Amino acid sequence: MIEIVVITPIPKSIETLVENSILRKALDKKIVKLFTVNLRDFGIGQYKKIDDKPYGGFHGMVLMAKPLSEAIDYSINLLGGEQKKIRIIYPSPQGEIWNQKIASRLSVKPKIIFICGHYKGIDERIIEKYVTNEYSIGDFVLTGGEIPAMLMLDSIIRLVPGTINN
Ligand code: SAM
Repeated sequence: MIEIVVITPIPKSIETLVENSILRKALDKKIVKLFTVNLRDFGIGQYKKIDDKPYGGFHGMVLMAKPLSEAIDYSINLLGGEQKKIRIIYPSPQGEIWNQKIASRLSVKPKIIFICGHYKGIDERIIEKYVTNEYSIGDFVLTGGEIPAMLMLDSIIRLVPGTINN
């Protein structure tokens, strides 16, 4: 069984796509376990703030380190607690270009976490502490990491034996 966590402030965007696609079969057959973790649940204060100025004083906003690191630690625990056994993927325009070979390699990895970036991305310290791989879906910039994460997890899950017929 492959276990995947997607950390996002808009979990519905992932859940709706999975619920209404062939990937649902993989979940029903318990070939794949998919968790969505709502970053807002780890937000700070009354308004569940998740954005902050970048560490190092650059312009714009990024996903704040504290809620994100708590969400990642929570996700690592969901997957058994051993960080070194988990691929932690940050979809990023700066990453290695995604392809079928990478999807195939990851389809045999039992534990994966996707971190969906927003605003200008994520706090650099999170990349240093947790991220094992950064992948890009192409030479363009989207507003958030949900579409790239969904694209990656779709191309991984369809390769897991039993998801589609052949
Ligand atoms: N200035 C940021 C950069 O160059 O990395 C762009 C951030 S973008 C507006 C917000 C988020 O969308 C990113 O953190 C990333 O997770 C996702 N994203 C945008 N374009 C992407 C791409 N081509 N491939 C993978 N992820 C992408």
